[in-house]
Amino acid sequence: MSQRSGNTRRNIKPELKDKVRKRDDYTCRMCLKEVDELKDQLQVHHIRPVEMGGRDRFKNLISLCNICHRIVHKDVERYIVPMRKYVDLLNQTGQRHTIDSIEKGYYVDQKR
Ligand SMILES: [Zn+2]
Ligand SMILES: [Zn+2]
Repeated sequence: MSQRSGNTRRNIKPELKDKVRKRDDYTCRMCLKEVDELKDQLQVHHIRPVEMGGRDRFKNLISLCNICHRIVHKDVERYIVPMRKYVDLLNQTGQRHTIDSIEKGYYVDQKR
């Protein structure tokens, strides 16, 4: 397996994507639309971006529709609100994740 870094778009493994979508109940975690409404538009997004060291890990991935996905990449403020909901969701499923680390990582690295 070759490891590539930089700004090349890497593909997340399909099995991992499926797991993430399933965990997120086949719902966009931002607008809460279900996959039926979205058709195949449910995308898997890195919470901590790949170019900031985010990896293809279960906890670093979230399901978003194509519209919200675009918003997330454009507007950090709007991004943080659903992230809080998302952390609650993760905690319900027994995962440990804090919004703090997500926010800090995101904001600190953004200021470049
Ligand atoms: Zn959405
Ligand atoms: Zn993304």
